[in-house]
Amino acid sequence: MEKEKLIDAVNKRRTFAIISHPDAGKTTITEQLLLFGGVVRKAGTVKAKKSGSFAKSDWMEIEKKRGISVTSSVMQFDYADKRINILDTPGHEDFSEDTYRTLMAVDSAVMVIDSAKGIEPQTKKLFQVCKMRGIPIFTFINKMDRDGREPLDLVTELEDVLGIQAYPMNWPIGMGKGLKGIYDIFNKRIELYRREDKAESFVKLDDKGEIIGEHPLKDESIYRQVLGEVELLNDAGNNFDTEKISSGKQTPVFFGSALTNFGVKTFLDAYLQFAPAPNEHHTETGDVVKPIDTEFSGFVFKIQANMNPNHRDRIAFVRICSGKFERGMDVILTRGNKKMRLSNSTQFMADTRETLDYAVAGDIIGLYDTGNFQIGDTIYSGKKAVQFEKLPQFTPEIFVKVTAKNVMKQKSFHKGIEQLVQEGAIQLYKSYSTGDYILGAVGQLQFEVFQFRMLNEYHSEVLMTPMGKKTARWIEPEQLDEKMSTSRNLLVKDRQDRPLFLFENEFAERWFQDKYPKVKLTAKL
Ligand code: GDP
Repeated sequence: MEKEKLIDAVNKRRTFAIISHPDAGKTTITEQLLLFGGVVRKAGTVKAKKSGSFAKSDWMEIEKKRGISVTSSVMQFDYADKRINILDTPGHEDFSEDTYRTLMAVDSAVMVIDSAKGIEPQTKKLFQVCKMRGIPIFTFINKMDRDGREPLDLVTELEDVLGIQAYPMNWPIGMGKGLKGIYDIFNKRIELYRREDKAESFVKLDDKGEIIGEHPLKDESIYRQVLGEVELLNDAGNNFDTEKISSGKQTPVFFGSALTNFGVKTFLDAYLQFAPAPNEHHTETGDVVKPIDTEFSGFVFKIQANMNPNHRDRIAFVRICSGKFERGMDVILTRGNKKMRLSNSTQFMADTRETLDYAVAGDIIGLYDTGNFQIGDTIYSGKKAVQFEKLPQFTPEIFVKVTAKNVMKQKSFHKGIEQLVQEGAIQLYKSYSTGDYILGAVGQLQFEVFQFRMLNEYHSEVLMTPMGKKTARWIEPEQLDEKMSTSRNLLVKDRQDRPLFLFENEFAERWFQDKYPKVKLTAKL
């Protein structure tokens, strides 16, 4: 009985992240999804949070300043008999390694693209991480209520730039002021364009894909044009292939307008049909942990620090991989084989912080942490020890030189750096020639959080000298000759003493490669 309940609960879970470039419409679409789930009653709630007016008084200054809210890190709602978890992937200046790591905790991703802009840099970066994991990716091409690029052009770009097959589930009939609706290939109907407050309106299609009976749309030239385009897609396009979708080789593409809530429900319904329930996870010893295994297990993929400067507490976000989480349960932290009781659990929803009592694979729990957890930690409750595979590290892209302001306080400076680096908050390097400490991160926010925590937790005021963007490339130690280091490629070593170059830019890297064609450079850590 208990097992059936668990299987049923697991199969209902859908856990995903929205990947997009800033301003593509991630917040707007999230809000619409939450509306369907009845979580937010009014559009604009998530937005308000983003702009800071929802900020809670006890959050750290940086959070307040930037309006990042922990409560929106994970949003959960029920819709169509499914329990949906949306994990936020911070963008803009808040882009950090956490953004990438969040993608380790989801089972699928929704890629939102601005129809006027196509694939943008951040979308591409996040897409690569999803691709590496082989998880299904669903594409929503947004802002069809505005004039954008030709749909065929956008779909071709998806294939060319991202190297993924695209399968249009629907096709826009016009755009901008001329938007008439979407030709829904998948559901064999036309969804007529209407503003968000109006009810949905569909027109049925016959076997040939034409509107049945009389309809004013039939007289529009755009209708004929779309029929032609759809025919072309049928003849020359990809076949719908659920296996390819499951392995992330094909992306179903949907068109719509998040702002006017057009096509969003159609997207969500189709998404839920094809998005996977929680995945299996592999352990370091090669075992497979199934989501319906009865023993509880999970891993920490993100630690949000300094929620409350007075208590210095943090929240460790745990993705549940198997079993059932119960409040107050005893678990073992694999690293150090430490027993702990999970009594202070909190789950996060869009606008409330609710204490969580029951959660299963696919769900995310937030645990108050006083310094026990590190990113990548496994916790489990069974008799057999579990350690999930290591989370990947991501090549840093921006760098700063860091020193202690007060030279007399070297001890706390070193202790702080050591611990924060170990926690996975930031990467540390040392210059070969000068011995300078250099920090590397994926986004600026990581530096700010580092500086703030050094001061608050280790009473160490740090000075950071920006070094800007660099391309980090590792080199085999035996191939290294220190003379290779010039003013355009700083030679440093990482924490494992492995040498790497920080190139000024791609050009400098190419120049180096031309000069030393036998030297192998890698972006992998
Ligand atoms: P995010 O940065 O990806 O979260 O993007 P937002 O959801 O904040 O949207 C960025 C801007 O685009 C806002 O001004 C939105 O109102 C606008 N926007 C989002 N979706 C649409 C859409 O479907 N049509 C139009 N015209 N504007 C949109």
